[in-house]
Amino acid sequence: MKDEIIISGLKVFAWHGVYEEEQEKGQNFIINARLALDTSQAGATDSLEDSVDYAKVCLFINDFMRINRFNLIEAVANQMARKIMVRFPMTQSVELEIMKPEAPIPVPFETVSVKIERSWHRTYIATGSNMGDSEDIISNAIANLDADENCRVFKTSKVYRSKPYGGVEQDDYYNSVICLDTLYSPIELLTRLQEEEKEAGRERLVKWGPRTLDLDIIYYDDLIVERDHLRIPHVDMSNRDFVLLPLSEIAPYKRHPILGLNTLELLARLKTSFVYTMKEEE
Ligand code: ATP
Ligand code: CA
Ligand code: CA
Repeated sequence: MKDEIIISGLKVFAWHGVYEEEQEKGQNFIINARLALDTSQAGATDSLEDSVDYAKVCLFINDFMRINRFNLIEAVANQMARKIMVRFPMTQSVELEIMKPEAPIPVPFETVSVKIERSWHRTYIATGSNMGDSEDIISNAIANLDADENCRVFKTSKVYRSKPYGGVEQDDYYNSVICLDTLYSPIELLTRLQEEEKEAGRERLVKWGPRTLDLDIIYYDDLIVERDHLRIPHVDMSNRDFVLLPLSEIAPYKRHPILGLNTLELLARLKTSFVYTMKEEE
């Protein structure tokens, strides 16, 4: 199913541009927008509350473009697409085209434009802590992420206890996995998670040593990232029962995009070598 709300040819007078003249005098911009959302509920109830009000979207675009100032329409598009998804939470993705028919170009042309698509991304984040009040630290980090407008915590597993991994003598760990929907790119998400680790007082002293908070990106949609500082899926996740066990609770059938196995299959394949005691229910 692909339902969309489509806005075409919305005209906004605003002041974006690299040149002083554009910033002072302003010019017309034409916007096309497509918002993907499930309209089946609204189709059945015939109530505007179950859909996105396109009049409000038009006004939002108008206000956003008139209040903010950017050099590039790339930046307008990128930031506005995210804000639309935050402001209209039913929206799953946004395609935006911003045209600049009066751009200062010294040859005849009809229009120039930038077209982008942005959407929510489903990610799985592994949490770990073995210093301080670990359960508090983890739940605090989850609350902080949920409070970030670019993130929504969709599900959280229970908190599990595990023996430390990697041979460093230290206290037992508390681990959980959260399913987080985000508007951040993979790199932005990593940076955001590192901020959260810092906030919890994390210091990187010993590799695999004790820490107040560790947040690792396990999956980001079905994306495969192979960079120096970021690899997704997390390279060692399939060897870690303290990741797979909580993950199996919230995403048993989620398939590893490289190995092709789902969480239960990965877990079954792993010879468990650590002892687990599930956190007792209060
Ligand atoms: P491990 O990654 O084996 O669990 P660790 O979590 O103890 O070890 P950190 O010191 O927290 O290691 O992170 C080291 C670096 O790993 C980070 O600076 C980050 O750039 C990189 N990294 C690569 N892939 C990921 C990922 N998927 N999630 C989080 N960090 C990652
Ligand atoms: Ca880790
Ligand atoms: Ca880490």
